[in-house]
Amino acid sequence: MDFALSFEQQSLVDALEEFCRRELYPHENLVEELRYVPDEIRQEIRRKSAEAGFEGMSLPEEWGGPGLDKQTKMQAERVMGKPSSALGQCMNRGVTGILFKCKDEQIEEYLLPSIRGEKKNAFALTEPGAGSDARSIVTKAVRDGKEWVINGVKQFISAADIADFIILIAVTGTDDTPKGPRKRFTTFLIDKDTPGLRVEPMKSIVTRGYNPTMVYFDNVRIPDSKILGEEGQGFNTANEWLYDGRVSLSAHCVGRAERIFDMTKEWAGTRKAFGKTIGEFQGVGFKVANMAVDIKLGDLMVKEAAWKIENDLMNRTEASMVNYYCSEMVFRVADNAVQVFGGMGMMEDFPIQRFWRDARIERIWEGTSEIHQDVIAKDLLRPYQH
Ligand SMILES: Cc1cc2nc3c(=O)[nH]c(=O)nc-3n(C[C@H](O)[C@H](O)[C@H](O)COP(=O)(O)OP(=O)(O)OC[C@H]3O[C@@H](n4cnc5c(N)ncnc54)[C@H](O)[C@@H]3O)c2cc1C
Repeated sequence: MDFALSFEQQSLVDALEEFCRRELYPHENLVEELRYVPDEIRQEIRRKSAEAGFEGMSLPEEWGGPGLDKQTKMQAERVMGKPSSALGQCMNRGVTGILFKCKDEQIEEYLLPSIRGEKKNAFALTEPGAGSDARSIVTKAVRDGKEWVINGVKQFISAADIADFIILIAVTGTDDTPKGPRKRFTTFLIDKDTPGLRVEPMKSIVTRGYNPTMVYFDNVRIPDSKILGEEGQGFNTANEWLYDGRVSLSAHCVGRAERIFDMTKEWAGTRKAFGKTIGEFQGVGFKVANMAVDIKLGDLMVKEAAWKIENDLMNRTEASMVNYYCSEMVFRVADNAVQVFGGMGMMEDFPIQRFWRDARIERIWEGTSEIHQDVIAKDLLRPYQH
């Protein structure tokens, strides 16, 4: 296994990091305060990132992108874990993988405008009664002639407030299987201005500006042509991008942990107590050492995972392992950082508290830590079941 990037690949990743530092970091406090990205800042980031050559950088070649290999792509994701998610989203680097399932007029209506950055989407699976247990969702799409009528409620849906359309997973029936009745799930593309669809904000303490929302479907009528992929294949359609999603999240965690660590080292190396810098005390120095080791392990796991995806060797156990480790790791790093910063770690005008709050969500979304542990344990113990 060789994880090294070529000179060109490394230059791209370095340029992306420099761009984030110059164009994104300076707006973070404002977004935190406002809880949204002002339109002029969104447009400016979009324009400057396009000028710098980052627009569409995660797209495959057949859709006009550079077709980056997985190692470079995940290293770019690591860098994108450093700025606020809300600002990172303004860059239009690519599209949600599931949209490549678009066919016929969906390509003109959803995929191409998304690639051009003209349309944004939100992905709606979770419901008030079904989070980890996603197969318990009850939002229903019922066929009525050539249309589908949708009723239900989705909860915690990120960025539906600023989306143009919703990628919805709904129940479209039940199949009889040898193991009993099984729900059929289907993915739909639904314009946000469709009558009966309503989005309401939720007030979250994490990732401000990239906000979770409630999405209500009240007799929403859509034609057959809005099915993404095949009817009854909802989870299969979404799962094709599962590994990429889990490793990208892990790469974000590593990047964010690195940024937190840089601030922590500087503080530990300069803040004085009892006539010394606090980093000279073993209680703080050991924290610094543990953070360094923790981040390194996460980084290596992401690099190995990228290599495995590239070589078609990834499986769900390993995808859960890297996701579980990295999301727990970034919170450990952020929590130790707060401790090293002392009281200043809790002050709103210092960024550490924001990183600490934002790190917390990684252990919950894209599968909670317990669900990943469950997957890992079940997969490893399956051969012993009789
Ligand atoms: C800010 C934010 C943004 C989000 N964005 C989106 C989005 O864009 N789209 C979307 O569809 N969803 C989104 N989600 C939802 C997210 O994916 C869910 O919150 C997550 O899957 C957990 O579901 P839940 O909150 O209902 O918790 P629950 O499933 O109710 O779990 C509660 C607790 O029980 C534990 N638990 C549950 N089952 C088991 C088990 N079998 N074994 C052990 N422990 C278990 C969990 O680990 C957790 O600790 C978002 C959530 C947040 C907070």
